[in-house]
Amino acid sequence: MIIVLFGPPGAGKGTQAEKLVDKHNLKQLSTGEMLRDAIVKGSDLGKKAKAIMDRGELVSDGIILSMIRQKIEETKGKSFIFDGFPRNLEQAKALDEMLNQLKLTLDLVVEIVVDDDILINRIENRAQASQNARSDDNEEVLNKRLKVYHQSTEKIRPYYLNKRKLVKIDGIRSIEEVTNDIESHIRNLPQK
Ligand code: ADP
Repeated sequence: MIIVLFGPPGAGKGTQAEKLVDKHNLKQLSTGEMLRDAIVKGSDLGKKAKAIMDRGELVSDGIILSMIRQKIEETKGKSFIFDGFPRNLEQAKALDEMLNQLKLTLDLVVEIVVDDDILINRIENRAQASQNARSDDNEEVLNKRLKVYHQSTEKIRPYYLNKRKLVKIDGIRSIEEVTNDIESHIRNLPQK
């Protein structure tokens, strides 16, 4: 099974991905986590990415796509949940091509919908509650991340709607309710 979780920063993509990983034996591919790992390791890629992430902008498609390609190729089981990827139309099309080459198909794209004002509150709370808050979880950078989300990432919505892959989920509920809602869509997928 291959699932994409998409939604604005703070929508709960990472939290939901973790819930689904164990239950469905999926490999979680979070580009944000991969980039943060590269930063901690201090690699050239990490150094390049940090400056971009701290401005709230998107890391180049070239970097992101080669990271994803490598992970897909090195993973034995071919069941994935993508979180934070694809983030623009180019990445969405490139993902389709990669999956096509491997004779794999995307099953479901879940959009977690949360209003901007709620996200701002959530991320402020997350930053205050965490001892090692993310350097991009501050008001100025968050506003930029939201702008990038509306300008670039939301363009993948019509793309997946056209392919009849997209379902929308109300993300302003408890973690468990959101997970249950996603699960019901997974159960409704055609059997392979
Ligand atoms: P959030 O969704 O809360 O903003 P992420 O961890 O998904 O958090 O992303 C953090 C940052 O990492 C983004 O603002 C962006 O700079 C970079 N990033 C993550 N995934 C991608 C991607 N697929 N394409 C480009 N940049 C990305």
